[in-house]
Amino acid sequence: MTSRWMVATNNEGKLLEFESFFEGKVVLESFKSFEKQSPAEPYETFLENALEKARYASLVSKLPSIADDSGLVVDYLRGLPGVRSARFADISSEKKIQQDEANVRKLLSCMSSAKDLSQRCCRFVTTIVAIKSHDDPDPLISRGVWEGLVAFEPRGKEGFGYDPIFYVSEKKRTAAQLSLSEKTVLSHRGKALKKISFELFKKFKN
Ligand code: IMP
Repeated sequence: MTSRWMVATNNEGKLLEFESFFEGKVVLESFKSFEKQSPAEPYETFLENALEKARYASLVSKLPSIADDSGLVVDYLRGLPGVRSARFADISSEKKIQQDEANVRKLLSCMSSAKDLSQRCCRFVTTIVAIKSHDDPDPLISRGVWEGLVAFEPRGKEGFGYDPIFYVSEKKRTAAQLSLSEKTVLSHRGKALKKISFELFKKFKN
């Protein structure tokens, strides 16, 4: 029987990336399957937020779970939006798509005085935590980083979040102009998952 794992997210874009990485080898559930919202992310580190999400995901689903907490770190902004990436722009609406668009607009506005490409270095970072149950004393932890530049304007329709303004030099396109499979190979999330893939299957084996 195919294993069922929980991915601790309400973000459809993230879930698609996990599905792309695991290529149907496991069935992936998310908070949507349990009609739950991802918990608040109160901490100042990706690691603590990821652990919080993973624990909650295993608690509500009774499944092994994987959580990623990620963000865009911009040198010119001394690391912002960083761990606050999901909620960088203040919006009253609940709609995720509007939040993403507002975040992109705010970031471009913060970067308006950075005219030179050398001032626009940034990276997506993620910490991934995998636990077998909510009280697992031995979480599997992995980090992934994806270097890029903050583009001057949004381009592309794929992906989510800051993808339309994350310029990938080696592809001469933004992350939102890459296919899902191209992004999975290059991205912070794909790299972090690749590092622990073998151990993850071993850990989650019944
Ligand atoms: P969280 O990990 O759920 O706290 O949210 C991470 C936030 O960082 C997302 O809502 C996006 O704004 C941003 N982010 C993380 N990874 C990516 C990515 O692969 N593409 C675009 N934005 C991302």
